[in-house]
Amino acid sequence: MLESKLPTVGTTIFTTMSQLAAQAGALNLSQGFPDFDGPEALREAVCRHLMAGGNQYAPMTGLPALREQVAVKVARFYGRSVSADQEITITPGATQAIFCAIQAVLRPGDEAIVFDPCYDSYEPSIRLAGASCIHQALTLPDFSIDWQRLADAINPRTRLIVLNTPHNPSGALLSTADLDRLADLVRGRDLYILSDEVYEHLVYEGAEHASVLRHAELYERAFVISSFGKTYHVTGWKTGYVVAPPALTAELRKIHQYVSFTAVTPLQGGLAEFMAAHPEHLDELPGFYQAKRDLFCSLLEGSRFSFRPAAGTYFQLADYSAIRPDLDDVAMARWLTLEHGVASIPISVFYQSPPAEARLVRFCFAKREDTLREAARRLCAI
Ligand code: PMP
Ligand code: GLN
Repeated sequence: MLESKLPTVGTTIFTTMSQLAAQAGALNLSQGFPDFDGPEALREAVCRHLMAGGNQYAPMTGLPALREQVAVKVARFYGRSVSADQEITITPGATQAIFCAIQAVLRPGDEAIVFDPCYDSYEPSIRLAGASCIHQALTLPDFSIDWQRLADAINPRTRLIVLNTPHNPSGALLSTADLDRLADLVRGRDLYILSDEVYEHLVYEGAEHASVLRHAELYERAFVISSFGKTYHVTGWKTGYVVAPPALTAELRKIHQYVSFTAVTPLQGGLAEFMAAHPEHLDELPGFYQAKRDLFCSLLEGSRFSFRPAAGTYFQLADYSAIRPDLDDVAMARWLTLEHGVASIPISVFYQSPPAEARLVRFCFAKREDTLREAARRLCAI
């Protein structure tokens, strides 16, 4: 009998809730994906590349044209000049990038610190590297880092700290001051940073995304990861990238080349063409998603949920303690799906030890206006 390397891992909550939503015929505001398509010009560009024969292996590091576009974007948004050849790697999704970066850094006996609630792929990747995953809960209600507790948790075995800003599921943002504090804590230590920034362009109210790419000192020890899936409304394309200094990139690529070797060629070709032709897409994204957030939140005002509008991401947390305080969030998410036709994600699954008092579920607002209106109508009727 094969002894499981991940005995406590089951099916992800995203699969579970999306399946339940489909079975119940519920509106699916659980798993994070848009119910609308990516830009037509982007899809046409991919079709052109596919029909023109761009169907064999791309270079292991990614198509040069796409790496160039990422370099242009990094310079434009974060003021950093990075080498497309030595610091950028295109990957089949951010999840694969996270896995490769973690394998590149961690060895048995090492510790990696993650902040709960945390994205579900970090811990299994850390454990498969033979390292320990140290969970530190963010402080409610604003999901901020407790710096003293972080300082206390860092020890000679600590090799990696995983950041996620804008933060899934809370929508919270780290600030430049937060990054400065982190730099103070890691200075002089043999410690790396994985910065999961897949929602980098989804920040609201004119806020600036505090990317690790903007922070010279942290970048020296960082893997910064993003996903074209989020930025171009094409989560099913599973295409992402990592920006890291040359020495870290070299180690990451040693793993990436044996996990997948490369990412899907015509998707890369189409993305490169679209990015060059439509830089305005990135400027329009915050407004595009803020309008959805604002619509959803204004409609939810008429409900018994309470919430603070998300500062970033396309997720909105909602507190249901005025509705069913008797239910934990997993039961609440099931009840909402089965009895009220709206699927959400319970946030306790993103914790090692969920806060007993939390009565929060996560709704994804990357949806068409009619979907958001109908979902809100159902939620307001409860
Ligand atoms: N990190 C976070 C925080 C996410 O929400 C997601 C989206 N699923 C990913 C990573 C993975 O992105 P991708 O689909 O490109 O693998
Ligand atoms: N990132 C998506 C979410 O948080 C889900 C991705 C997945 O299904 N693995 O909902």
